This record gives sequence, C-alpha cells and structure tokens, in this order.
Amino acid sequence: MQKDIATPIRTQEILKKYGFSFKKSLGQNFLIDSNILRNIVSHADLTKDSAAIEIGPGIGALTEHLARTAGKVVAYEIDQRLLPVLADTLSPYDNVEIIHGDILEADVQQIFKDQLQNYKDVMVVANLPYYVTTPILLKLLMDRLPVRGMVVMMQKEVADRITASPGTKAYGSLSIAIQYYMEAEIAMMVPKAVFMPQPNVDSAVIKLTRREEPPVQVIDEEFLFKVSRGSFVQRRKTIINNLQSSLPNGKAKKELIIQALEKVGVDPTRRGETLSIVEFGRLSNELYEEFH
Ligand code: SAM
Repeated sequence: MQKDIATPIRTQEILKKYGFSFKKSLGQNFLIDSNILRNIVSHADLTKDSAAIEIGPGIGALTEHLARTAGKVVAYEIDQRLLPVLADTLSPYDNVEIIHGDILEADVQQIFKDQLQNYKDVMVVANLPYYVTTPILLKLLMDRLPVRGMVVMMQKEVADRITASPGTKAYGSLSIAIQYYMEAEIAMMVPKAVFMPQPNVDSAVIKLTRREEPPVQVIDEEFLFKVSRGSFVQRRKTIINNLQSSLPNGKAKKELIIQALEKVGVDPTRRGETLSIVEFGRLSNELYEEFH
C-alpha cells in the first residue's frame, strides 16, 4: 500500500515540491493524521460497491482513504493550483475523478447520470471548507441527490446547531432544514492539532443519514423553512410575536396566526426553539393558504 499523504512530513514535502501556500479564504486546513481519516471513512460504511463524493480534496489526504475503501470517488476542488498536486498524489488510484470547480455551482445530478450510474450506494464524505459549510450542505440537500447520507467535518459550533434537539440553545432553523431530510448525529470531535494549518475553531464530524420519509408531510417544504426561519428571527420572543413580524401582513392577521397555532396545539406564547419539526410542519400547513 502507498505511504499515506496525511502525515506531517509527507504533507510538508508535497507543499514544498509545489510551492503551495494555503489560502485562508478557501478554508484550506488540511488533515495530517491518518487515524482521524480512517475514523471518518469508517463512519461512512463504504464498500467497493459504494461511491463517495468529496468536496475539497486539498492535496488528497481524505481522497486516498476513500479511494482505497470505495469503488469510485468523485471530488470537487475549486483551487486550480491543487490540480497538478492531486494528479501526482492520487496517481496510484484509478478510481478517482477530480472535477475542477465550485461545488455551489456544480450540477451534481448530472454526475450521478454520467459517472455514478453503476453505484446504488453513494455517500458524501468531506472535510468541508468552513466558510461555506451551510450553503454546501443546503445545496446538496436541495439538489435531492440520491445519497445514503453524508459524513462531514465542520466547525463544531455548526455541527452543534445541525444536530440540536428542540428546547436547546443550539436548535434553530438550520437544525430543522437539515433534520427534515436527514437524521443527524455528531460522530466525533476532532482536535485542532490534526490540521495544517490549525484552524482557530473547534471541529466535529457529523453523520447525516437520509430519512426514508420526512418526519411530517407538508404542503410546501420551502414554506415550512420560511415559517421556521421566521419563528427564530428574535429568539427570545414568543412564536406569535415572531410570526406576526415575519409573515406577510402578519400584524394585521394576528388572529389568523393565533387560530393556526391553536389548531395545531401550539400555545402562541411558546418560543420557536421549543417546537419540534413535526409541529413546525403542521403549523406551516395551517398557515399555507393565507401566507404562502
Ligand atoms: N480534504 C482535504 C483534507 O482534509 O486535507 C482538504 C480540506 S480543506 C478543509 C477544504 C478544501 O475545499 C480546500 O482544498 C479548498 O480549496 C476546497 N474548497 C473551498 N471552497 C470550495 C468550493 N466552493 N468548492 C469546492 N472546493 C472548495
């Protein structure tokens, strides 16, 4: 087997060989610890019958572990300077496809048709660029990719928000947007020392597993997310106050909002952070006719 990319010495060698300097603006914090990488990949439960989609391969530290475990790896890298590096470091693996581009602009559905048509089991596995974690996750979810789930590293604070339960400080519209599609759990915490350069924030890996069915049937998913976002605008305010301000003409239609809340069994003086996704879903259905 090849020597791992993710050791401090080999990483330094590669950076030096290519005169590579990190771009903070692209969230470039590379992993230099093989144990962490093995651990991340093991959470994805991949086999040679699976494929992995990676965002931001960097110099290929995680990519090579994925290539050894999965049947196929497709990785999107925005930084052109890394393309020759990846061509070199990943040359021992013939099952990796590097795509140069911004994942936020990518047509990933097309990749399923062109490259992943033989794979029924696909996972997203990535050490995400932290500056765009949320847009990337939301984009991948909204693209409705037929993935089993995602194992992704991010800033711990965002991981806490994504995996939060109702009634906790971290729970909010991001928890709802993600947990509507996926079951979410923290897989592991990751110390700063395993990155080069070390990030300023703590990191965690989360595991998302696609739900067979959403937890609640809604008329319009976008409207559910609008209602949930509108319920958290001022966290300390009651849900009725927040919805009055956030729904179109909400102030004039206060009575209608109260009626909808009461119909779904939600006391208007509760705060948004106490409502489950099911309650938000039912509430959005009640409000839909009047406010969508
Ligand atoms: N996977 C590597 C590792 O773990 O060592 C690198 C991870 S580093 C945290 C994030 C990577 O994402 C960088 O290589 C960066 O250039 C890339 N990146 C940043 N923004 C991106 C975007 N919008 N689309 C694709 N790749 C991006």
